[in-house]
Amino acid sequence: MVELSMTNDNYPELKLLIGNEWLSRSSGEVVINPANEEVIGTVPHATSADLDAAIAAAQQGFQVWKRTAPIKRAQIMQRAVDLIRARSETIAVAMTLEQGKPLAQSRLEVQRACEIIEWDATEGRRIYGRVIPSEPGMRQTVLREPVGVVAAFSPWNFPLSSPSRKVAGALAAGCAIILKASEETPACAVMLAQAFVDAGLPPGVLNLVFGKPAEISEHLISQPSVRLMTFTGSVAVGKRLAALAGTHMKPAIMELGGHAPVIVCDDADPTTAALACVVSKSRNSGQVCVAPTRFLVHDSIYDRFAQVFAERAAAVKLGSGLDPSIEMGPLANRRRLEAIHSLVTDAVDKGARCLSGGDRVGDRGFFYPLTTVAEIPDGARAMTEEPFGPLALLVRVGDIDEAVERANALPFGLSAYAFTASARNADRLAEGIECGNLAINHFTASTAETPFGGVKDSGYGREGGTEGLQCYTIAKLISHKIVA
Ligand code: NAD
Repeated sequence: MVELSMTNDNYPELKLLIGNEWLSRSSGEVVINPANEEVIGTVPHATSADLDAAIAAAQQGFQVWKRTAPIKRAQIMQRAVDLIRARSETIAVAMTLEQGKPLAQSRLEVQRACEIIEWDATEGRRIYGRVIPSEPGMRQTVLREPVGVVAAFSPWNFPLSSPSRKVAGALAAGCAIILKASEETPACAVMLAQAFVDAGLPPGVLNLVFGKPAEISEHLISQPSVRLMTFTGSVAVGKRLAALAGTHMKPAIMELGGHAPVIVCDDADPTTAALACVVSKSRNSGQVCVAPTRFLVHDSIYDRFAQVFAERAAAVKLGSGLDPSIEMGPLANRRRLEAIHSLVTDAVDKGARCLSGGDRVGDRGFFYPLTTVAEIPDGARAMTEEPFGPLALLVRVGDIDEAVERANALPFGLSAYAFTASARNADRLAEGIECGNLAINHFTASTAETPFGGVKDSGYGREGGTEGLQCYTIAKLISHKIVA
C-alpha cells in the first residue's frame, strides 16, 4: 500500500501521481486557508516531461483497464469508496481547511462523492450495446467502447465531488484518466487518488497533476492519445477549452456557469419558499454553479418573501468552517471576495436597495455575509454576470409568463427552480424554461443517478446518470455478413 504523509495532523503532503508513483515537485504556489489566510501547503507543479509521462502511463493503464472485467472494475471502485468512507473525517477536515465550507457540508460532500463513485461503479456493469435487426445473414451489433484516455479539469468549489464525478464516470466506462484538479484545493484530489491506489487500481489508470492550468490543458488536449476532455469551471475558460478541443477534434463535456432563476408563483407559501431559498443560497457561500441567484417573485407575495428572506439572510452565522455553530464559511479566495463586493457596489450605485449584508466582515479571512438586494435594475452587472457568491437578487414579476421570459433572457441555462402548488404552473415551467435541470419545490439539482448539465452557454454533455456514463463511450457498429 502506498502511503502519503501528512504535513500536520489535518492536511496531507501534496504530490503528483503518475503511474503508481507519488512525485514531489517544487513550485512557488501555496495553498491558503481562506478562514485565516494562513499557508497550509505547497502545490507541486508538473513539468512538461511529467505530463508526457502521465500520458504514457494513462495509455498503458487504459490497455489494462479496458480489458478488465466490469465486475472487477466495480469491485476496485467499491474498495476505493470503502477507503474514502473510512477516511471521511480526515478528508472533510482537509476540505474545510483548503476551501472554507462548513465541516458539516464537507462531510456531506464526502458522502456524496462516495454515492457517485458507487453508483457509477455498478452502472458500469450495465453499459450495454445493441443488436439491430437486419436482413438474413447479416448481424449488426453496436458496441459501447470506452473512449480512451480522458483529460479532466476540476474546480475548487467542490474539491472532492467534482473530481469524483469525472474519475468515476471515466473508470466505470473503462477509460483511463489524467486529472488536473484545482491548485487552490488540491488535498481532496490527492486523497481521492490515494484511495484508488490503495484499492488496487492498476498503474496509470488514474493520474493526478497540478500546475499552470492553461499550460496543462494546452499540453494534454493537443495530444493524439487523449480522446476526451471534461471541464468544470467558468463559461469564459470553458469556451477557450471547447475551441481548443475543437481544433484537435476532441469530444468534450463542459459543465460551466449558471445564473439560476427561482420562480416563486402566486400560489406558493412565501415564508416556506424564502426560508428554503436562504438555506440553498448560503450553501458553500453561494459558490455553486447551480446556486439560486435571481429570485423572480410574484407581485402578490413579493413583500412577504423579501421580508422573510432578508431577515433570515441577515441572521446567517458566518465564521470558520471548523466552528460547528456557523452556517456559512468564508469565500474560497480573495478573487471571489473582490468580485462579489464589486457586484454589490455596482448594484447599489445603480439604485438597488441592500436588505442584508453588503460589505466584507473583518479583515482577516475572506468573509462576506449573505447579501440581499431588491429593486435591482436590469442594467446592474449582477443581473447578467454569474455572482458565484452569497448575493441574492430579488425581482418582482407580474405573472408566470414574465417570469419565464426573464428566466430565459440570459445566455446561461444550467439549473432553474420554482415554487408552486399548481400542476398547471409546474407544467408551464417545465415546458418553458431553458435549462438542463429544473427542481420544483426543492433545491436538489442532481443526484448520482440523474443526468446533470446545461444548455446554451452553460455547456454540453452530462455528468451523472446513464447519460453521464454514455459520454465516456463511443458507439462502434460491427456489421457482419455471415458467409456460408
Ligand atoms: P477562472 O475562470 O479563472 O477559473 C475557473 C476554473 O478553471 C479554475 O478551476 C481554474 O483552475 C480553471 N482554469 C482556468 N484557466 C484554465 C485553462 N486554461 N485550462 C484549464 N483550466 C483552467 O475563475 P475562478 O476565479 O477560479 O472562478 C470563478 C468563476 O469560475 C466563477 O465566476 C464561476 O463562473 C466559475 N466556476 C464555475 C464552477 C462550476 O461549478 N461550474 C466552479 C468553479 C468556478
